[in-house]
Amino acid sequence: MKKNKRLLIVGGVAGGASCAARARRLSEEMDIIVFERSEFVSFANCGLPYYVGRVIKVEDELLVATPELFRDRFNIEVRTETFVRRVFPALREVEAEDLKTGRRYRESYDALVLAPGSTPLKPTIPGIDLPGVHTLWTIPDSRRIMSWIRDAAVSRAVVVGGGFIGLEMAENLKHLDMDVRIVEMQPQVMPAVDPEIASFIHDHLMSRGITLHLESAVTAFEKNSTDAIVVKLNTGLALETDMVIFAAGVRPRTELAVDAGLTIGEFGGILVDERMQTCDRHIWAVGDAAEVRNVITGRSCMVPLAGPANRQGRIAADSIVGQVPPAHVFRGVQATAVCGILGLTVATTGLNEKSLSGFGESIGPYEKVYLHPDHHAGYYPDAKTLTLKLIFNTKTGRVLGAQAVGEAGVEKRIDVISMAIQRKATVFDLEEAELCYAPQYGSAKDPVNLAGMIAANIMRGHARIDHWENLTDPGTFILDVRDIEEYRQGHLENAVNIPLEDLRECLEELPRDREIWVHCYVGQRSYFAARILRQHGFKVKNISGGYLMYDPVKRYKRNY
Ligand code: FAD
Repeated sequence: MKKNKRLLIVGGVAGGASCAARARRLSEEMDIIVFERSEFVSFANCGLPYYVGRVIKVEDELLVATPELFRDRFNIEVRTETFVRRVFPALREVEAEDLKTGRRYRESYDALVLAPGSTPLKPTIPGIDLPGVHTLWTIPDSRRIMSWIRDAAVSRAVVVGGGFIGLEMAENLKHLDMDVRIVEMQPQVMPAVDPEIASFIHDHLMSRGITLHLESAVTAFEKNSTDAIVVKLNTGLALETDMVIFAAGVRPRTELAVDAGLTIGEFGGILVDERMQTCDRHIWAVGDAAEVRNVITGRSCMVPLAGPANRQGRIAADSIVGQVPPAHVFRGVQATAVCGILGLTVATTGLNEKSLSGFGESIGPYEKVYLHPDHHAGYYPDAKTLTLKLIFNTKTGRVLGAQAVGEAGVEKRIDVISMAIQRKATVFDLEEAELCYAPQYGSAKDPVNLAGMIAANIMRGHARIDHWENLTDPGTFILDVRDIEEYRQGHLENAVNIPLEDLRECLEELPRDREIWVHCYVGQRSYFAARILRQHGFKVKNISGGYLMYDPVKRYKRNY
């Protein structure tokens, strides 16, 4: 009798579960076994902060699938509470331990998929293992946090780390009416975006009563005489709190791969090719543990997100079962991500400006534009302004990255631009993108079109722009074309105010021997002004993003 091919999968959540289910859909003639160390398979770790915050009320809602469902629907054997301790590549075997009984045994494979994910970083800070200092990674972690909140009558929390998980936890603890502080080592939260975009998050967090301690590193956790936790910072501050959530980054789980002699990439992940295959042709790796290529730079990188993990799981299954043309290969990651923070949404895709400087010439010359359009037609009720930053190559027009922040319509624009980036599209493609429009959903010129149009104007030479951070010469002639009332409410000390409507009558007042930097509130009227001035022979630049970006740029950009 012909023996079935054996597929073993280590890790049964995002990447591993996707791989198992896809492999079964493609082949009925395969033995598929999933080893999962925890008691749960295929659970929604992305939902955990909302479970702690009681937005998701029932734990079972987090269980996307169960071992029984895998057995009955897919004929896949899931062994929970089973830890794979070693891989023996030469024998094509793994050693597993049943954590309930301690029994160790070996299983052989034809194909092995490593989907062990990552683990929260826990540096050796004194007191990091104190009761009340938590990380959030698994369902048992969320149970521990919820019991601590209940038993210790928690009303104060310190979140260490202002990344996605830290911010989501801050939101959810605020939902529980806690006094929340965020401690972040960098000068900004949400390192995935640039500092001037993060400044909108800072303002929002503070407006919601969350205290921020930026450029602050934890040096120790201690207990004081009242049994409270004291979080000591390198700034000298000591924050008294009832609970700490430690969310300061992740580390790929690569112990098995290292032990098996698989190639590890420069960022510490398991190096794979576009079929998710490691250097051993019988072993694949997917998800947070895998090191893949960046769509834009072509270089190796790590992006620990659920979307890539799920897609990679499918690709590994396709590769294992046998590819049918056209080949299904991984296109790379571009770090497309979104985070909601107490009514504010921030989203990003592609490269940010901070990272661009690290790539030097290989990425080519770039420019950025800021715009602040409404998320849908301004005349339709409840239009919300969003801020969008688009980064593009000035030689080719290729879109390199985008970030947006606002109360509504943010992720939709970033998703569109994300697809454009994956397809190596240019600002001219964004300019011409045909997107849905009705007043309650968007505008006839969608923010994505507008971003493309502004950038295309630069590419075609219709507009010259500059940025607040480059405004260093105190002798620069700054023209503010806002209304007199807007100007009175706040303006740059040396700016000359000529409202756009009066500009044509006041040309004589403007210098012809110097460059004029023109701005308005968001950058649109100043663009109109710049067009007028250029056609009258003036040397003029529009300050992208307008006065609205002045404070975010001047206050935060200095840090980089
Ligand atoms: P995981 O889904 O983590 O699965 C790995 C599994 O392997 C684990 O269950 C582990 O127990 C098991 N395992 C490890 N080693 C072994 C072993 N030796 N033997 C047996 N089993 C083993 N991403 C987003 O895109 N959006 C979000 O909103 C988002 N929110 C998140 C919120 C939280 C709190 C967390 C923790 C993560 C969040 N993520 C989010 C990240 C996302 O969940 C991960 O990127 C994704 O789950 C990675 O998938 P994976 O298959 O690589 O690893």
